[in-house]
Amino acid sequence: MTKFALAIHGGCGVMAKLDLSEAEWIAARRDLGRALKAGYAVLKRGGNAIDAVQAAVVVMEDSPHFNAGHGAALNENAIHELDASIMDGKTLAAGAICASRRIRNPVLAARAVLEHGDMVMLAGPAADRFAEARGLAVEEQAYFTTERRKQSLAAMKAHVAAGTQLAASESEKHGTVGAVALDQHGHLAAATSTGGYNNKPDGRIGDSPVIGAGTYARDGVCAVSGTGKGEFFIRHVVGHEVAARMAYLGEDVRTASAKVIIEDMKPHNIGAGLVAVDADGTVAAPYNTDGMFRGWVTEEGDFYVASHSEVMALTGD
Ligand code: ASP
Repeated sequence: MTKFALAIHGGCGVMAKLDLSEAEWIAARRDLGRALKAGYAVLKRGGNAIDAVQAAVVVMEDSPHFNAGHGAALNENAIHELDASIMDGKTLAAGAICASRRIRNPVLAARAVLEHGDMVMLAGPAADRFAEARGLAVEEQAYFTTERRKQSLAAMKAHVAAGTQLAASESEKHGTVGAVALDQHGHLAAATSTGGYNNKPDGRIGDSPVIGAGTYARDGVCAVSGTGKGEFFIRHVVGHEVAARMAYLGEDVRTASAKVIIEDMKPHNIGAGLVAVDADGTVAAPYNTDGMFRGWVTEEGDFYVASHSEVMALTGD
């Protein structure tokens, strides 16, 4: 069988271990496993990398455990504004939507923008209208809201009032979901979807929909999906930076990814992580926070998920 690979992340804003109940950990890991299985099914039957990353991200957008789609972060006005993008490494075609208030699965709208072909990014109400016109599901704001996100917003507002924002935990601050894949035809793809960070300014757009920053894929080099304070990902053009290090310096995917996340980002005192896969199917998943929800699957169909340092093999459903 020709080689293929898939890796996902559910954001580097992972809770301190003690802040989540065992039942919540189990549910989050189960949903990571479901996302891996959705993407793996596409790759195993010889499908395209771009369909695999899309399938994996949809599962995580539908899960309340990650900051994307249902369960997304709330901005300063307690509104959800959602960002997503997808990129096909084969053609460098890309699509993105940002500041959407209604699209149930932002990654599907990003894909529709890609398929449209004339543009790369659509914003706000126009993105919502575009998605609806394409027959994609749209929702009222309440669909995206969970109790945990309301609590996170209240906690961030309390930090701001007390001047202690820097002491806020990574989980209070942010999160994102993403996937990268290599398919059996040798093509790479990446997708990323997020609610941004808790208490973000009205209209603020992060790195996740910015091609080259939060998402990047180029055949023969790598596919990358990032998570962390988006402003730094944009300034460091993280996705493209990893690819450039590999292409121009000849670094392998693990070295290039670690260089950007650990050496370039860590000194700014920001939580950051990414998943990346190279043209040979080697996966990298560096992060500089306490944890990052992540997972990958081997060609043999062995599924692994992790939140902190220990990695768990998934069995059953
Ligand atoms: N990168 C996302 C953003 O800045 C948030 C995150 O991944 O934590 O919007």
